[in-house]
Amino acid sequence: MVGAGAAGLGAARRLADNGLKVVVLEARNRIGGRMFTDRSSMGIPIERGAELIHGGPHASTWKYVQEANIRTAMFTDNYVRLDETQPWHNPESLMAYSFPKGMPAGLAVYDTEPLPTPDPGEMAEHYLVHKIGITDENWPTAVHFLAVDSEPLYNMAATSILDTLADCIHYTLHPDELPEPEVLNPNDPEHDDGDYRVIGGYDQVLRAVARPVDVLLNTVVKHVEYTANGVVMQTSRGAIKSARALIAVPAGVLKRDMIVFDPVLPADKLALIDQFQYRPIFKCLLEFDHKVLTINGKDFGYAEPLRGNPKTLWNASIGAPRYKGQVITGWVTGAAAAELLQLSQRDRYRATLDVVRKAVGDNGLKYKNAVMHDWAQDPFAWGAYGRGVGSQIYKPVDGVIYWAGIQTSSIHASYNSGVAQADLLLANPPVRGWSQRGRGQAAAH
Ligand SMILES: Cc1cc2nc3c(=O)[nH]c(=O)nc-3n(C[C@H](O)[C@H](O)[C@H](O)COP(=O)(O)OP(=O)(O)OC[C@H]3O[C@@H](n4cnc5c(N)ncnc54)[C@H](O)[C@@H]3O)c2cc1C
Repeated sequence: MVGAGAAGLGAARRLADNGLKVVVLEARNRIGGRMFTDRSSMGIPIERGAELIHGGPHASTWKYVQEANIRTAMFTDNYVRLDETQPWHNPESLMAYSFPKGMPAGLAVYDTEPLPTPDPGEMAEHYLVHKIGITDENWPTAVHFLAVDSEPLYNMAATSILDTLADCIHYTLHPDELPEPEVLNPNDPEHDDGDYRVIGGYDQVLRAVARPVDVLLNTVVKHVEYTANGVVMQTSRGAIKSARALIAVPAGVLKRDMIVFDPVLPADKLALIDQFQYRPIFKCLLEFDHKVLTINGKDFGYAEPLRGNPKTLWNASIGAPRYKGQVITGWVTGAAAAELLQLSQRDRYRATLDVVRKAVGDNGLKYKNAVMHDWAQDPFAWGAYGRGVGSQIYKPVDGVIYWAGIQTSSIHASYNSGVAQADLLLANPPVRGWSQRGRGQAAAH
């Protein structure tokens, strides 16, 4: 197995649970890959990479949270506003669907008729200004909110906003029909599918996955020679032979030929790897020496100033009652992230501080510590994550090289991919069978 991220560990755990002896070769001095808990930079453990368990109890990795008795905190109090001129409000409230300067009378017709069809390739901003006739100060928060975790509206297909725009028109005309905003509650199975932070470090979850698995840290795989009979891997710590290999490294590592395959991988595999593109992701953490931001007297989960860049702030110290300070994560993706990533490190911190200052309403606010990991320059990742190119990328090569992770964009998707590819590997044993745990040579490195 190559790579001790969620994909490699998920695969290794599945193989180990099936009685195989598995060794995971990991280049870094830690497990987790793009899940990177940092316990030294701030007053509480912080996450430089993955931070949230999306879907909480519904995520496939949740069983390890329970098994290892790991504490989590759900984001229940989530707020948006365009800027300081608006109060913080629930992203599903009537205010979110309202036109800040009033709905133009001409739009009422679209409550019963379809909205004008966008031109091919038309972007949302162009559509709103030129087809609908409203400029950005009159776009409802719900429309701006579509850009969170997506593209800015100047870079988003107009077709993506039609349903929300129709809802804004409808609920402005029929406010009594707006459903009650969902009240997230970790104790209610109907409403427990929000985002959860892992108190004390996300790495506890992957350590629980890795418990029965042997991981060789500081072992960089550089060269993989394969035939139908097996694999020889050259690593920074010598050669390792195995019957099969499962490669669970990020696409960026494969794109840059950081691992050389001999013979060269099939053309269709290389084409899929090349097709994968990382998305710009901006994540910056600021630590303050006291709790600087509360909303309506409460700890917030998300506070999204939609005109800001970064657009999203989340509370990275939620669930740590004894901690006196506050850690706030600034987050944005896509073209807005690319703008921030062009700045110097210092200016990235300043841009995030500026958004926090406006959220708090204190222009003199100072942070104590700031941290940001440059995933695009990380030699074992070369990027954060992107949109997958399809399951064909996992097709085994010559029946001996299996693949997992690579293109996935969440911990649980990587873990699931590892488990699925381990099952495929188990269904195709080598002619002489597998070595079992504790006997003979390791069969699946
Ligand atoms: C900033 C950021 C925020 C994110 N936020 C979230 C979130 O909140 N929730 C969520 O679910 N997901 C999130 N993600 C996505 C998630 O982190 C990844 O999708 C997931 O961690 C990928 O797991 P993986 O095992 O596929 O790859 P990785 O975690 O990258 O693991 C691959 C492993 O392979 C190792 N490796 C690479 N090259 C070699 C080599 N030559 N030899 C040996 N080993 C090698 C690497 O060191 C690494 O440990 C985030 C990612 C980033 C970057």
